Amino acid sequence: MARYTGPVCRLCRREATKLFLKGEKCLTKCTFDKRSTPPGMHQQRRRKVSDYAIQLREKQKARRIYGVLERQMKITFKRADDREGATGDNLLAALEARLDNVVYRSGFAKSRSQARQLVSHAHITVNGRMTKTASYEVRAGDLVGLVEASRGLTYFKEMLSWSKTQTRPGWLEVDVEAFSARVAAFPARTTIDSAVNTQLIVEHYSR
Ligand code: SF4
Repeated sequence: MARYTGPVCRLCRREATKLFLKGEKCLTKCTFDKRSTPPGMHQQRRRKVSDYAIQLREKQKARRIYGVLERQMKITFKRADDREGATGDNLLAALEARLDNVVYRSGFAKSRSQARQLVSHAHITVNGRMTKTASYEVRAGDLVGLVEASRGLTYFKEMLSWSKTQTRPGWLEVDVEAFSARVAAFPARTTIDSAVNTQLIVEHYSR
């Protein structure tokens, strides 16, 4: 399963905004405010920014927030476009409905990359069946839980007290003690807390 493995703070500098890719560390050890110039040799060069560049950056920002590679993003966009309703809203909903994002939003991991690792290392179940596919799209009514054998692991014992302090989106019903989350409804744009401008992404892929 391919994923970006380079330095993640560089991605925030590239997108000129904090993407909060390191979970809690982003709240205490972030250096973005001190150094926010784009990475690379020609970082200081001034130039007029084209519409294409603006759209591209928004798409890249969304990809980086959700930890999705370009191929997967294109597939997700195509699926969103095929569905009824606004493509941009569908796209964001589909990204939110990824299993790794659900684990993160449920408060069982401190970052999406950590959530992805929990899924790929076979700790997570959907409707009682273990699944290792981070891109798995949950449906309304699905129950995301923990593999029985993983319950005793130190990680989950330590996560419990932290997890209790977290807020969850309205489309998830979480039982923290049981480490389970019911997808009460498929995520909708109005219930997703995201600064991504999906219209720019639609324009980018519609070129
Ligand atoms: Fe981005 Fe977090 Fe790194 Fe700050 S600490 S630059 S928010 S990934």
